[in-house]
Amino acid sequence: MVYYHSTRDKNRRVTPSRAIIQGISEDGGLFVRDEFPQLKLHDILGKSMMELSQLVLSSLLEDFTQEEAAKCVQKAYGSTFYHEDITPLHILDNDYILELFHGPTCAFKDVGLQMLPQLIHTSLQKCKEDKKILILTATSGDTGKAALEGFKDVEDCSIMVFYPHDGTSEIQRLQMVCQEGRNVGVCAINGNFDDAQNAVKEIFTDAFIHEQAKQKNIQISSANSINIARLIPQIVYYIYAYAQMVKHKQIEAGEAICFSVPTGNFGDLLAGYYAKKMGLPIHKFICAVNANNVLYDFFQTGTYNRNRPFHKTLSPSMDILISSNLERLLYEVSNHDTKRIAHYMKELQDHGSYTISDDMKQALDTLIFPSCSSDEDIKETIHTMYQTKHYVMDPHTAVAYKGTCDYRDIDPKHKIVTLSTASPFKFANHVYPSIFNETDVNEQEAMKYLSAQCQLDIPYPLKDLDKKTIRYHDCIDKQDIKSYVEAFMKEMK
Ligand SMILES: *Cc1c(COP(=O)(O)O)cnc(C)c1O
Repeated sequence: MVYYHSTRDKNRRVTPSRAIIQGISEDGGLFVRDEFPQLKLHDILGKSMMELSQLVLSSLLEDFTQEEAAKCVQKAYGSTFYHEDITPLHILDNDYILELFHGPTCAFKDVGLQMLPQLIHTSLQKCKEDKKILILTATSGDTGKAALEGFKDVEDCSIMVFYPHDGTSEIQRLQMVCQEGRNVGVCAINGNFDDAQNAVKEIFTDAFIHEQAKQKNIQISSANSINIARLIPQIVYYIYAYAQMVKHKQIEAGEAICFSVPTGNFGDLLAGYYAKKMGLPIHKFICAVNANNVLYDFFQTGTYNRNRPFHKTLSPSMDILISSNLERLLYEVSNHDTKRIAHYMKELQDHGSYTISDDMKQALDTLIFPSCSSDEDIKETIHTMYQTKHYVMDPHTAVAYKGTCDYRDIDPKHKIVTLSTASPFKFANHVYPSIFNETDVNEQEAMKYLSAQCQLDIPYPLKDLDKKTIRYHDCIDKQDIKSYVEAFMKEMK
C-alpha cells in the first residue's frame, strides 16, 4: 500500500481513502505521496476521457478496486457533461484550447467536483465509517456552485458554502443562492476570498468545532482543491489532451509539450505537474495570473509575499493572495523536506511572506514560466482572439492565452495547450463589451447579445437564472462563521 502523508510531517500518514475523508492533515499540511506510478504511452493513446479517468484513479488510489473506480467514473461523468468528449481539445491552426467548461456549472471545477462526492462516498464505505460528512468550502465563485452541484442530495453528506459578498459575478451569485437540494447551505461573508478561505481553514483546526462534530458523529471535510480527491481527476485531462494532440497528428508520440494554466489556488497547475510526475512528456507549465500577481512575483524572485493590496479583476475566480496548493509543489522541489515546508508555512502565517532557497528556486525555473495579465490585457486578448480566429473566450482563459503568447515569444518550438476554464457566457458582461467595443451591459442582456452576434447557444445551465427562486439571503462577518457552522451542524439529519 502506498500512503499519503502531510507536507509538513511524514509521520502523519494515511491510506488514500482516509486522506479523501479527512481532506487536510490535522497539522494543517496537505496530503502528498512520494512515489508516482508510471504511465506508458501505449496505455493512454486512443483512450477516452472516461477510460483515462479510470486508469488514473485506480493507479493513484491503491485501496480502490477496479470496479469501484469504474463506478465512480460512470456516476461522475456518465451523463453530466454537455460534450461527448467531456473535455474537448479545440484546434485553431497552431493554437490548442482545452475546453474544460462543458459540465453542469460551465466551469472547469466540475471535472473535480463531480468526482469528489463519489470518491468520498466510496471511501466512507471502504473505511466502514458510519459517519456523516460535512463539506465546508470557501469559494471565489466557481468552486461553490460546482461543489453544490456535485454534493446535492448525496447520501451521508451535507455541504455549506461561503462566498465573499462582493467577490463573485452576479451570475455566479445567482447560481449559488438558487441552489436546490435538501443537504445544502449557502452564506455570504463580508470580506474577500482570502478572508473566507482563512475563516474556513481555521474551523478545520478548531478544537471546539471538532468536539461538537464528534458528538454528532460528523466528520468535517473540504471540497477545496486541497483534497486529493479533487486534484486526481484533474490530472486526467492533461493526459487526455496529450493523447488528442497525438491523435490529431499535431505532435509525435513522446514529443514534449507545454500547458498554459490560468492559476488561482494552484490546484489545476499542480494536477498537471502530477501528470508530468506520472511520465507525461511535459516541457514547461506557464503559470498565468491576473493583477493579483503574487505567484508571478514569487516565480520571478523566490519570495512569496502576500502583503499587498487585493484587486478585484475581470477574472474573479483567480483573485487570490494565498495559493494553497503551491505548498505541494514546494514539497516536491525541496526534495521532500517536510521541516523546511513547515517552516515556510509558519513564516507565511506569521509574517505573510517567505523566501525559498536557491536550489528550490532553480528547480522551479526549469519547470515554470510565469505570465501576468492586467484587466486591459484581458480585454485586448478576448477582442483580438475573436477578430483573428472567431473564437470566443472567457476572461480566465484570456489570461492563460496571453501566457501562451508570452511564452511562444521565447520558445517557438514547443506546442502549447491553453487551458480554458470557463464558458464565455458565464462572464458575458465582460466578454461581449470586449469583443464589440461596447460599454457596460447587464449580464443577462450580454448573454443574449453574445449568443446572437457570435452565433453560439447559451449553455443550458445558464439559461433563465433570473427566473429561479432565491433560497439563501444570509451575509455574516468572518468572526461569526464558527457559530454559523455550529448552528448548521445542529440542523444536520
Ligand atoms: C478556480 C478557477 C481557476 C483557477 O484554478 P486553480 O486550481 O484555483 O488554480 C481558473 N479559472 C476558473 C474559471 C476557475 O473557476
